[in-house]
Amino acid sequence: MKILLASSEVHPFSKTGGLADMVGALGKALAAAGHEVAIVTPLYRGIRGRFTDIKPTDLRLDVPLGDTRVSAGVSELRLNQRLTVYFVDQPGYFDRLALYGENNTDYPDNPQRFIFFSKAVVQLAHLQPFGPFDIVHLHDWQVGLVPVLLRHEAHRTGWRAPRSVLTIHNLAYQGGFMGSTFAFTNLPLDYFAPTGVEFYKNLNCLKAAIIYSDFLTTVSPRYAREICTEAYGCGLDPVLRARQGRLVGILNGVDYDEWNTHRNLHLRHPYSFRKMAGKAASKADLQRELGLPVRADVPLFATVTRLADQKGMDILLAALEEMLATDMQFVILGSGDPNLQRGYQNLSRRYPTKAIARIGYDHALSHRIEAGCDFFLMPSRFEPCGLNQMYSLRYGAIPIVRRTGGLDDSVVDLTEDDTLADGIKFTDFTSRALAGAIRKAHVLYRTPELFAQMRKNAMTADFSWGRTTAEYEKVYQRALA
Ligand code: ADP
Repeated sequence: MKILLASSEVHPFSKTGGLADMVGALGKALAAAGHEVAIVTPLYRGIRGRFTDIKPTDLRLDVPLGDTRVSAGVSELRLNQRLTVYFVDQPGYFDRLALYGENNTDYPDNPQRFIFFSKAVVQLAHLQPFGPFDIVHLHDWQVGLVPVLLRHEAHRTGWRAPRSVLTIHNLAYQGGFMGSTFAFTNLPLDYFAPTGVEFYKNLNCLKAAIIYSDFLTTVSPRYAREICTEAYGCGLDPVLRARQGRLVGILNGVDYDEWNTHRNLHLRHPYSFRKMAGKAASKADLQRELGLPVRADVPLFATVTRLADQKGMDILLAALEEMLATDMQFVILGSGDPNLQRGYQNLSRRYPTKAIARIGYDHALSHRIEAGCDFFLMPSRFEPCGLNQMYSLRYGAIPIVRRTGGLDDSVVDLTEDDTLADGIKFTDFTSRALAGAIRKAHVLYRTPELFAQMRKNAMTADFSWGRTTAEYEKVYQRALA
């Protein structure tokens, strides 16, 4: 098949979260499975400097955007024979400090930026040099208008447009903008209706994609069920229920070329479940780096996360107030909500030998934390898939997760299967329930045989892309049928 993946972030070029990891890995996996794959993404500041093989093409995009036209160049990077990345080069929109906003505030022209980008994707699907695509696979709201734009273009010109598949990575981000921004789509006003792209007088890019895509997926089976309920549907559950027959949940895979403990640029001490000395050395290194007492006998808890409401960092902060009285160490690497940043910095000031807050984004440190910690905390309010718990498993860091979304689908608790258990789960979204799970971790840490068994289970659990790729191939077939 010929497949175009469209995403506002793609690892290793740009990343704010799991979306980037997933799209980068999916592209590689589909190409390895024999498909011809192109990925289209914005050329953000700094990408060209870091990837000097990116070359400008003579393709030129010219996009109507309301009353004006916006033009852009297209650069390309051929990663292998079957995988090319196209970068939409529109400096006015994308040559900025950040992807979506600065100082915790979205860029005010995000509607223009991403409506423009969606239109650029549609033009590329028309123009691109290696023949028509069978499938355009969209990721999240930033490219949510692509299916309706494709459909409109097909009606207008008789073009046999590619089929569209939407993957929802997080229903909480919908690209909802004032109704007046609909003008930037240049679509006939009929589309701006409750049965179309309108949502309570606003333009809603994700809703548009849910309605107009040929097929829908989300990133775990449990989240696929959850988003059809009022509790997790973020207002769009009725729209999703109407399309439930065309919605499947596919758990993300892990790119083990990147996330492994035996051949990893970021780790000084390789290890595997057979040779765990490197894990102990990684822990000592991490404690040293963070300025914590270097002790093997104290459990080290960690988390690496966006500091967003979704991630449950508020209940973690409360649980730690209680749990830091015990003999434990804790490190958080994250950035986002200024109140949470301050909260964790205060905690660290009060417990300097126990709790460390690293505010910021640091990819290499995230690997060292996974390798150095004993337990990895993900108390999410909701979690579409979550990648860090799967990375933690491979790194022998026992994940402590709330029973929701992809966390529930990828971690096995002792109460579910005592021979396969590889993590600790709790159900209620309260600091009390989370503290209970941390207490269980303390007990586990003092039960070496069980701890070793669970670590082995964790490190041998397999989330490689083979299964995930096969499931996406089935979805593409269904979209084409
Ligand atoms: P989400 O996509 O909701 O942010 P995921 O668990 O799916 O959550 O993916 C998060 C990804 O982003 C992981 O690869 C994680 O390591 C990375 N990440 C998040 N915050 C940071 C940070 N402050 N520093 C480095 N990596 C981070």
